[in-house]
Amino acid sequence: MKYISTRGEAPALNFEDVLLTGLASDGGLYVPETLPQFSAAEIAEMAELDYAQLAHRIITPFVEDCIPAADLQAILEDTYAQFRHGAVAPMVQLANNQWVLELFHGPTLAFKDFALQLLGRLLDYVLERRHQKVVIMGATSGDTGSAAIEGCKRCNNIDIFILHPHERVSDVQRKQMTTVVGDNIHNLAVQGNFDDCQAMVKASFNDKSFLPADRSLVAVNSINWARIMAQIVYYFYAAVALGSPGRKLAFSVPTGNFGDIFAGYLAKQMGLPVERLIIATNSNDVLHRVLTTGSYGRQSLQHTLSPSMDISVSSNFERLLFDLYGRDGAAIKDLMSRFEQGDISFSETAMAQLSGLFSSHCVDDAETCAQMAATWNSCEYMLDPHSAIGVNAALAARLPAGVPVVTLATAHPAKFPAAVKAAGLDAEPVLPHHLRDLFDRPERCEVLPNELAAVHAFMADNINA
Ligand SMILES: *Cc1c(COP(=O)(O)O)cnc(C)c1O
Repeated sequence: MKYISTRGEAPALNFEDVLLTGLASDGGLYVPETLPQFSAAEIAEMAELDYAQLAHRIITPFVEDCIPAADLQAILEDTYAQFRHGAVAPMVQLANNQWVLELFHGPTLAFKDFALQLLGRLLDYVLERRHQKVVIMGATSGDTGSAAIEGCKRCNNIDIFILHPHERVSDVQRKQMTTVVGDNIHNLAVQGNFDDCQAMVKASFNDKSFLPADRSLVAVNSINWARIMAQIVYYFYAAVALGSPGRKLAFSVPTGNFGDIFAGYLAKQMGLPVERLIIATNSNDVLHRVLTTGSYGRQSLQHTLSPSMDISVSSNFERLLFDLYGRDGAAIKDLMSRFEQGDISFSETAMAQLSGLFSSHCVDDAETCAQMAATWNSCEYMLDPHSAIGVNAALAARLPAGVPVVTLATAHPAKFPAAVKAAGLDAEPVLPHHLRDLFDRPERCEVLPNELAAVHAFMADNINA
């Protein structure tokens, strides 16, 4: 499988090189040159597979020229053995035709574990083979950092530096990052905000001269293709469990950077009978505005009860646009450079395709709390604020009669106790057993001033030989 850039100018790469790259050299994002297709008969056979086996079936065509089948199988079995539920991604029914796909049984209680547990293992496998070491640098407002650290903690060939805004992530989120033990794990609490952290990571990718000569820098945010790839699997898993390919279904996805829902779009393109993909956003509604007004533009960031969806622009949307514009890299390059200047609108054909595939719903904090309370009162089921946005959007969607909607539950409510409290539930979320002593574990974290030079100096001193 070859991967090409959405802006049409960077060289095509194989899976291994895409894994080790962030953005393409032309500023675009890598996507597969062609998508594998699964027939109805092949999808029906998937019902016999457990999660790791299904992952093998779905992922093989994307990686087979780089990773032998037996090695891939071992990596996937080890990856999904880290999840603390026999089904890995179990489903719960909330109401008639309303389902929740629980994606929070991984080590850090958010869906990002599905991709980052795999990414860490894939990186280590490839680096071991190449006798190469790399540095991972990422900025987090919470969930990505802990999932990346958990995914890479056993990787001998990776030093991982995660920047978070000092005193601006929740206690659970901070503890999940700073209590992980390992010489290769470096938590940097920057005396600034999330945007400052992100700007430092971006600047570091643009000028890597602070790194030792033998190290390259790898991205773990969802511009990394391997993350998207891993997320395609659970769409098939849920659909088959509900009777696909004989039955169509819809998915409601709490959306920030458009990575998770883009994986759902790919599942549909690969043959899954998806009736509709519902983009569920919080008040940071850049995508909802595209669908309802046709205009694509930045607005200032709002801080909400669902912080993992607080974004002003969804970077993975470019991957979808590439398809909506007939995979014309030059058109995307032009579109994105105009977007740098201000608001843009899309072609009629692009908009028609977009609204044929997706609908959207924007849910503010008050509605999020109301949904958490309503679901609790009707089934004693506790939703985290992100998942509540998904459920709210699923209930608002107008779908053909009898089509079930699966909402992706992206985090465990115990990650967001303040939101549960704000929703007025008469119960407190309980951390799963394996994390019950989280608050007693010692923390390791370096507080640094909001200066790139200080961050680079710390990194240079702490990269393991
Ligand atoms: C990251 C995250 C999201 C948003 O996912 P995207 O792929 O960025 O759209 C939603 N919910 C939770 C809990 C997350 O951690």
